[in-house]
Amino acid sequence: MAILSALGFGPETLLLSEPKMFMNGRFLASLLVELEDELESIGAQRALFQIGLLFGFRDAYRMTAMENTEPSQSVARSTLVALQFRRGGSAAASGTFQMQGTWPDKYEASARLLKLGPDTTPSCAMSAGYTSGWLSGTLDTDVLVIEETCTACGDTACSFTAHEVATVAARRSEAELRLVPELSYDAFREISRRFAQPLKATASPTAQPVDFDPSMVHVWGPVMVLPFMNIEESMNTVKMLGHTPDTCDVRSIVIDLQGEGLDEDFTAVSLEKILETVEAWGAEVILTNVSPLAEPIVADLEVKHLLLRKNLPEAIATAFQIAEAQRHIL
Ligand SMILES: [Zn+2]
Repeated sequence: MAILSALGFGPETLLLSEPKMFMNGRFLASLLVELEDELESIGAQRALFQIGLLFGFRDAYRMTAMENTEPSQSVARSTLVALQFRRGGSAAASGTFQMQGTWPDKYEASARLLKLGPDTTPSCAMSAGYTSGWLSGTLDTDVLVIEETCTACGDTACSFTAHEVATVAARRSEAELRLVPELSYDAFREISRRFAQPLKATASPTAQPVDFDPSMVHVWGPVMVLPFMNIEESMNTVKMLGHTPDTCDVRSIVIDLQGEGLDEDFTAVSLEKILETVEAWGAEVILTNVSPLAEPIVADLEVKHLLLRKNLPEAIATAFQIAEAQRHIL
């Protein structure tokens, strides 16, 4: 944790509250370069491992918190890093837990190759950290993931083995354990739990995804949720996003009108502008939480293909369906 704080990546920072960094290859590549510049290679790897660990724990806790909620809230169930496990992993002869898998999209290795070139040892530290945290949170035991083969050093796949921390030290070399010197999983558990926001904190009659902060822009891969609370801010966000090359990855955008009366002409005009901008990116727009007062105004908007959904979970579910359908077309 000290490494992260020293770098200014405290758990409260935007960087750690926005999962977009995992989805965004260019961002991750720049982060890798920055960390390598600031720290020696091993320090950079440790920092990445810890960032991953935080996210992994957080996602595991979010999933657990969502087990008892409506199916429509299951949007955030998927992991940020794509994981694939080999079947029948566990049960080594010694009775210790062991599991093998791959990161099928080789996402971190590609980012590294893009900016830093090939490496001599497996280098997907963030993916290893994420998977360690995710398994540790899900299985409720401390798990360490060690990458065995890596496309960044010429292998055909990024593959890993997951071990129980309690038993791994006896079986692996010091070099292989380099990412976790004196690492306290408990500290990460505690921070991630707070960070994951337990269900009771957000359980309200207007059921929304557990991790949802309605005042923030959320991006889950091809889906973006844009709160329309403050006109100026929404416009600025859209303008800013328009200048980001990665916006083209966004296939559908949910605009949440919660708390916005839309009773002034000005607001309707701003909304129209935002819709036009967003449609120019080729993304589908879904409006949600439209109040009865605002309905006629929305009906008058001169925008094609406007989808309406009653509430945010439904809107997000539709957004993912659209994004998925578009992915198959492309
Ligand atoms: Zn790798």
